[in-house]
Amino acid sequence: MKQTMEMERHLSELAGQLEGETGCSVWALEPLAAHTSFRIGGPADLFAVVPGEKELSRLLPALGQLGRPWVVVGNGTNLLVADDGYRGVVVRLGVGFRQLSRTARGLAAGAAVPLPALTRAAVDAELTGCEFLSGIPGTVGGAVVMNAGAWGASLSDILAGVTTFRPDGTEAAYTPSELGFGYRTCLLAGSGEVVTRVETALRPGERESIRHRTAELLAARRRTQPQGPSAGSVFKNPPGAKAGQLLEAVGAKGLRRGGAEVSRVHANFIVNTGGATAADVAWLIKELQRRVEERFGTRLEPEVKFLGEV
Ligand SMILES: Cc1cc2nc3c(=O)[nH]c(=O)nc-3n(C[C@H](O)[C@H](O)[C@H](O)COP(=O)(O)OP(=O)(O)OC[C@H]3O[C@@H](n4cnc5c(N)ncnc54)[C@H](O)[C@@H]3O)c2cc1C
Repeated sequence: MKQTMEMERHLSELAGQLEGETGCSVWALEPLAAHTSFRIGGPADLFAVVPGEKELSRLLPALGQLGRPWVVVGNGTNLLVADDGYRGVVVRLGVGFRQLSRTARGLAAGAAVPLPALTRAAVDAELTGCEFLSGIPGTVGGAVVMNAGAWGASLSDILAGVTTFRPDGTEAAYTPSELGFGYRTCLLAGSGEVVTRVETALRPGERESIRHRTAELLAARRRTQPQGPSAGSVFKNPPGAKAGQLLEAVGAKGLRRGGAEVSRVHANFIVNTGGATAADVAWLIKELQRRVEERFGTRLEPEVKFLGEV
């Protein structure tokens, strides 16, 4: 008990110190369930919200000095956070990273812009090419690192440039070809660089047809995917196959553990039906991998990222 109180006091002191040094808002023991679409996850030791680029350039070197693990998150829509939480610093980009503007080639967007806001802005600016992103609930920054995509297209198809901050707090600019984009991955994953801005390359289009296509894809998503708390597709599609079909074939739909259930609508989604823990979801992930490997000899690779000791 005494030890816990001392730890809490120590973390509160660290939070205050980081706030003072960087100008970010920093909380101790922030529950991460509130920051993930799964609604699962224990506390982060420290949780820092970064108001703008100046504060980010101070925070990153300060985190290096602190010597604790840290990670940047977007909307937490592709994350499974451990029930014990994360023994490090979770960084979230704030209001200064939510700008959207028209450029000669398309739209420039801050890393904290939600993808639905990007697709709405494209309709307003009469720009076509990013309709496929409609309904993906992540941020622009998370979408770069995950190379988010749907309906046969990925974010990398419409990127013109990406700006990041390196761990030493300096800025870097990349062309898409420098970032090694692949299926749900790119070289920035795990690199310690923080995506801050992107520029997209879009084409002029007709407002009504862009709006119609966006709405059509959104409706198709609502028909084929569950609506409850989830992290989207649990597994990547293995080469030449659909994870959802393999999972359906091994009787995954409706499989439950605690409050976690494999969706009856789409076998590649696990839904938190209420009170699910990360341990419940991890158990289901292992069980689904085991069944698919036994039947098809294919090891399904999680698309969901794990944070903490899941
Ligand atoms: C209902 C639902 C439907 C979905 N449908 C799709 C889909 O069709 N296609 C698809 O690809 N995904 C889909 N997803 C998954 C998810 O929305 C995407 O992976 C999205 O790109 C994650 O963005 P995020 O901001 O939530 O990132 P987070 O989940 O917060 O983080 C994901 C990863 O990105 C890193 N990251 C986040 N922001 C930054 C940054 N600024 N700089 C550096 N690294 C960063 C994190 O460290 C982490 O490794 C779906 C999820 C849900 C819940």
